[in-house]
Amino acid sequence: MNEPLEGGCLCARIRYRIEGAPRWVGHCHCSMCRRAAGAPYVTWISVKSENFRWTRGEPKVHASSAKATRLFCPDCGSQLAFRFNDKPHLYDITAGTLDDPARVTPKENIYWDTRIPAHITANDLPERRIEG
Ligand SMILES: [Zn+2]
Ligand SMILES: [Zn+2]
Repeated sequence: MNEPLEGGCLCARIRYRIEGAPRWVGHCHCSMCRRAAGAPYVTWISVKSENFRWTRGEPKVHASSAKATRLFCPDCGSQLAFRFNDKPHLYDITAGTLDDPARVTPKENIYWDTRIPAHITANDLPERRIEG
């Protein structure tokens, strides 16, 4: 992947750029992602911090649990990123905020057992269980 992946929030106050290939792309069906995004599930792109930067504006940081923060636009509310407190070398970015989300391909489901069956009946991706 040569061209950077770029994206931003709904109101365009916050913009970002990802260089290089994502290290992981997948759908998270956990209840916290569902609430944070107001969507049945969230597709995440995991990238190394060294390959990620905000190019316009600064997101607001919400401590969504004791272990992690979620970053969102303070004006329009778009959820943009997720970070584990103990993994500062990583950023997880919401694929839905990419300018061209079709450029990334999800590989796995996580928290599949808490999906909403009426919304997500099936897909062809394997499931990966997350401990803790
Ligand atoms: Zn915004
Ligand atoms: Zn989740």
